Amino acid sequence: MDRQGFASPALDAKLLAGYGLGLTALDMALRENEPVEAGAAERIAGLMQRRLSGESVARIIGEREFYGLAFALNGATLEPRPETELLVDMALDALPQGGQLLDLGTGTGCIPIAVLVNRADASGVATDLSAEALVAAQGNAERHGVAERLVFLQGSWFEPLIENPHPSPPHKGEGTAPRVGLVAEIDHQTNSLLLVGRGGGSDAGFDLIVSNPPYINSAVIETLADEVKSFDPRLALDGGPDGLAPYRVIAAQARNWLKRGGRVLVEIGYDQGEAVTGLFEAAGFTDVTLHKDLNGLDRVVSAHHV
Ligand code: GLN
Repeated sequence: MDRQGFASPALDAKLLAGYGLGLTALDMALRENEPVEAGAAERIAGLMQRRLSGESVARIIGEREFYGLAFALNGATLEPRPETELLVDMALDALPQGGQLLDLGTGTGCIPIAVLVNRADASGVATDLSAEALVAAQGNAERHGVAERLVFLQGSWFEPLIENPHPSPPHKGEGTAPRVGLVAEIDHQTNSLLLVGRGGGSDAGFDLIVSNPPYINSAVIETLADEVKSFDPRLALDGGPDGLAPYRVIAAQARNWLKRGGRVLVEIGYDQGEAVTGLFEAAGFTDVTLHKDLNGLDRVVSAHHV
């Protein structure tokens, strides 16, 4: 930390200067002794000023790396965090061959996109309350070449998923489903998902439901670092009065959308392990387990639907 509380001021300055000049890190190193034109210097000073006011480098540059991939951000998305990479690792392990996942509150789309980039056999659906966030997510899916296997729907948690009252026959080979391998059809008129399933019954639904929902207690948000509280969208942070509101919805409804044998993986705050495992156990899930991140903090709850 320097005097003003910046963890890596020299690196931040270098990144912002490179961005202001439109140069890659390599070009920055090769051309470091060249003079900078007045216009560019002014541009860089403006970027530095934003950083000094507490905005993160990622927000200023408009993207952040997650799971080795660059994700575009906008005003409605949280910055993907390195802690969330554990959820991706676990999702990659949990997803069966040809599996389908549902991501709730997708933000930049970082979780399902990272999964699908690493699993060409898999496909998925992602929802978010914010239409603006979904614009960023859709762009990120296209940029990383998974847009054909990932459908974005706008709405709260499970709301955009509507069970198909007249299920079509199970998807067999070509032609019946609009997207490769999806057991769902999209109703473009209502922007909702019609879950078709493979043969209906216990075999219908997703193999895996994942979420990194907003989980910060409303009152605690004010105490967070400026970088978070002033620049990350409230909607993406606020988990209600006790920070658990999204987990209640997910625990109560996830089994309606999971195949038998399917799993839920949710990211949690370091002090929410007991409360969130309790919610999933009370909702009838089995094998509810807590997983720690690289810092040794509780970070993911896994629950089975048998
Ligand atoms: N799922 C997204 C992420 O992990 C968004 C999370 C959120 O907005 N709370 O970055």
